[in-house]
Amino acid sequence: MAPPQRCPLCRQTFFCGRGHVYSRKHQRQLKAALERLLPQVEAARKAVRAAQVERYVPEHDRCCWCLCCSCEVQKHLSHGNLTVLHGGLLEHLASPEHKKATNKFWWENKAEVQMKEKFLISPQDYARFKKSMVKSLDSYEEKEDEVIKEMAAKIREVEQSRQEVVRSVLEVGFPRRIQSSIQIH
Ligand SMILES: [Zn+2]
Ligand SMILES: [Zn+2]
Repeated sequence: MAPPQRCPLCRQTFFCGRGHVYSRKHQRQLKAALERLLPQVEAARKAVRAAQVERYVPEHDRCCWCLCCSCEVQKHLSHGNLTVLHGGLLEHLASPEHKKATNKFWWENKAEVQMKEKFLISPQDYARFKKSMVKSLDSYEEKEDEVIKEMAAKIREVEQSRQEVVRSVLEVGFPRRIQSSIQIH
């Protein structure tokens, strides 16, 4: 008889050897676990052709659990003050390690074969994503440059109006102030 094993999906010890993965309970747990991961994978897949760059916020450090590899995966890709949304998960899903682990996981758990593709990103798609990421980073920087330019223009404007105030005080304002101080006393 096969030695008892612990199933990480059902969180229980079973004694029936390989037969356990065919059990209704295990298949139900497997389906639920895959359905938890799938929306995150699908959201990441949408980013392949349209990578999004945002200013980094601590929320971007969020992880998700890859049940094929049994590891935490960083969802987004952050560098300095920028984040590429879904970059971390896409990188993971396209890695040869994930592909290998997914094949093994599918085989061991007797998961639906046609579902497997949904959890993999092809090297071509990852290359597409990287291209789109570079484009988004460039346009993000351009946008940032514009903001900086706008801010500089505003600072110049403020500076100019301050000088105008100073000038008007020196030219016209000064006698008026004397007048008012006369009125007070
Ligand atoms: Zn199980
Ligand atoms: Zn994985």
